Amino acid sequence: MKFSATGAFQSLFISTLLSLLWVGAANAQWLKASRTLMGTQVSVEIWSEDIVTGRDAIEKVFAEIERLDLMMNPWNVESELARINREAALHPVTTTAEIITVIDKALYYSRLSDGAFDISFASVGQYYDYREGKSPDAKKLASERENIDFRTIELDVADSTIRYTKPGLQIDLGGIAKGYAVDRGIGILQELGIESAVIAAGGDSRILGSMADRPRIIGIRHPRKKNEHAVLMPLVDTAISTSGDYERYFVKDGIRFHHILEPSTGEASRGVQSASVIAAYALDTDALSTTVFVLGVERGLELVNRLEGVDAIVIDGEGKLHYSQELLLSTRP
Ligand code: ADP
Ligand code: MG
Repeated sequence: MKFSATGAFQSLFISTLLSLLWVGAANAQWLKASRTLMGTQVSVEIWSEDIVTGRDAIEKVFAEIERLDLMMNPWNVESELARINREAALHPVTTTAEIITVIDKALYYSRLSDGAFDISFASVGQYYDYREGKSPDAKKLASERENIDFRTIELDVADSTIRYTKPGLQIDLGGIAKGYAVDRGIGILQELGIESAVIAAGGDSRILGSMADRPRIIGIRHPRKKNEHAVLMPLVDTAISTSGDYERYFVKDGIRFHHILEPSTGEASRGVQSASVIAAYALDTDALSTTVFVLGVERGLELVNRLEGVDAIVIDGEGKLHYSQELLLSTRP
């Protein structure tokens, strides 16, 4: 894992700033832009020799993420994913290789987590409206949660087709599509010869290279204090995703209704405030951060410790931090 923890964090941070000032004297520079896409803030930051080609590279990343957003947003009736949700229970639907890739990965993490990660959460999830403060009533919840079952999604990767064997099943790629989009964006930058960059889509980020030979300092948000970090970490050439119960939620009768659902009940998953996962690709960290959040501290870390090149930091219901095995070893003085 590309992680370098240090006790002397402050001095590392200061020397990072100094090296930035130094490289600022040359022609190359950091260019940054943000846009609202995939229902969140997407930012692209690159180290570029030339301002015109650099801005052009950033535009190409936004165009790519916009293309994926139009394909995978289930709330847009014209999207490919909405078409799948309308037709897949009636007949096998031939769709894009990209949607098949993302769903195939989603089903892999469903099997690995015994259903804690399940894109068919949407069978119930579609009845929550976090902005309006609405949740399904007990009757609706009881009938629709029967439709959450990733095992009834039939995928034929070679033929690029998908079929649902349960009529009421609906899928939503909100727990994995942003990770795929971030990886695609990084892929485009690499093809253009860019060696240092960061793309962040909400809680999903990937860091390409470093910052002037120094790691980039990435913060994990404090789940209960806005504008504060719970953890700061120097990272190089890696992806990191955080799933939190503070992103999209409302509170009714003292209960927090948030956007990560426990598939067996169709209700908000309890016990964890945030789960962050570090690995090479954002497609994996995105799916895994949601997975670990649902599995909880013990089962979540047990899964992560079994996976090569994957690490996690989980903040439990009381705000206490828990680390995966390899992080524990590398943070020890
Ligand atoms: P975000 O980056 O949008 O905050 P996360 O990666 O934390 O998202 O995933 C939360 C999203 O994942 C939800 O908004 C929903 O679309 C989807 N989701 C919720 N529960 C599950 C689940 N059990 N399995 C798979 N996806 C889920
Ligand atoms: Mg996720």
